[in-house]
Amino acid sequence: MKIGPDTVVTFHYTLRDESGAELESSRGADPAAYLHGANNIIPGLESAMTGQSDGDTFTTTVTPAEGYGLRDPDKVQRVPIKHLSFKGKLSAGDVVQLSTDDGMRTVTVTKAGRHTADIDTNHPLAGQTLVFDIEVSAVRDATAEELTHRHVHGPGGHQH
Ligand code: ZN
Repeated sequence: MKIGPDTVVTFHYTLRDESGAELESSRGADPAAYLHGANNIIPGLESAMTGQSDGDTFTTTVTPAEGYGLRDPDKVQRVPIKHLSFKGKLSAGDVVQLSTDDGMRTVTVTKAGRHTADIDTNHPLAGQTLVFDIEVSAVRDATAEELTHRHVHGPGGHQH
């Protein structure tokens, strides 16, 4: 079955940066799953998925504009450490959760002080060109409920 609007795609991926260094991989864990055409994944990867079928493997390069966006230097701010959720000692480079009025968001610590920390609220992958090795494990039609919710239910998706 081909990937198109309103299909649910299950896939394994390895994500590398431009130098070839591995950033993330689903190998050795459950595959990822998403509802195609619902902006559940970054645009560059979603468009590369279109027309692929189960069993297909391919490599695609995604520019920052089609990925997690460009890095905005203005998105660095100083916050009280108590607004951050982390374990152990906070250090520059740590990726932690910041509690905001809109819920938790992932931020990168650029400088850690005793009571405050400088954090970068850009997505950790913002500004990076991303190289994905993809293996499409399965493609199926979305259920009516998934189409209403605009996301996948079950393994790799929402459990509710
Ligand atoms: Zn749902």
